[in-house]
Amino acid sequence: QAKENGRNSYCFFTAGMQSQFNRSLQLENALRHAIERDQLQLVYQPQYCLLQQRLTGFEALLRWQHPELGFISPAEFIPIAESSGLMTKLGDWVLQHAIQQQKAWQQAGFEPLVMAINLSPVQFRQPDLLSTIVNQLQLARLPANQIELEITESAMVDDAEKAIATVNAIREAGIQVAIDDFGTGYSSLSYLKRFKLNKLKIDQSFVRDLLDDQDDRAIVTAIIRLAQSLGLKTIAEGVETSEHQGLLQQLGCEAIQGYHYGRPMPAEAATAFIQQAFAQQQA
Ligand code: C2E
Ligand code: MG
Ligand code: MG
Ligand code: MG
Repeated sequence: QAKENGRNSYCFFTAGMQSQFNRSLQLENALRHAIERDQLQLVYQPQYCLLQQRLTGFEALLRWQHPELGFISPAEFIPIAESSGLMTKLGDWVLQHAIQQQKAWQQAGFEPLVMAINLSPVQFRQPDLLSTIVNQLQLARLPANQIELEITESAMVDDAEKAIATVNAIREAGIQVAIDDFGTGYSSLSYLKRFKLNKLKIDQSFVRDLLDDQDDRAIVTAIIRLAQSLGLKTIAEGVETSEHQGLLQQLGCEAIQGYHYGRPMPAEAATAFIQQAFAQQQA
């Protein structure tokens, strides 16, 4: 290729960047049609409370299966949606479908379960976010306290005063709020008490090596203590083994989510999971 266009000096530098750029552009164009072409799906990962020893709800996670490009990870396409103006539309789709699923489970008598829904910082900054969600809840006739919004620290740092007002308005509407990937962002601890939060989600990067790494253990312990003293719940993500679960329980963590308890699964499998969990809990 270098010989073809005769600009050797630039080609070496741009080849990788070019293909990266092409891929992003290709995904962006494909993503524009993903909703109407029915390529999106939500999967649901169960959350387990260690104190009450029961299934407490699910986190909705977005999946995109493209006919030619195959499975594309949300870690790749969410940032593209955010930078190309598609995130609000995508986020509304997620909210609508997660709320519908939660309604279906509520109607089936599976209570009390809570549906956790990830919110992009882009959605978090939309002035009509709360009215959109409240509308969807009313349409579905779903109590607001059956959904929990997961927000990352990055959504909260750039305009703290506005972010505090947004979170507090969401809470006043009865919706629960968790900070996702807690400990990986740059949120100031002093702000934490000004947000009327419900829960901290301990990032999986601290959980992964928890059994061997003293530093990770110290960080997880500190987060749990912090949450306790601020009156917040804790959930650890990325819990892959019973050893992890045991240690987290010992450290006072309230809840877990991860491959050990259950992988993200389509709605039908999640329904079967609930039935089994409820039957065991009653036994
Ligand atoms: P997240 O919200 O922190 O979600 C947790 C991620 O960890 C999920 O990856 C989940 O599949 C994965 N996971 C769960 N248990 C384990 C485990 O035991 N071990 C390991 N190694 N991983 C585990 P996923 O589904 O690929 O999503 C990645 C990220 O993409 C999410 O991180 C979230 O930030 C974003 N995302 C996913 N769905 C949505 C959505 O609907 N809206 C928005 N805004 N972001 C989303
Ligand atoms: Mg999350
Ligand atoms: Mg997370
Ligand atoms: Mg995470």
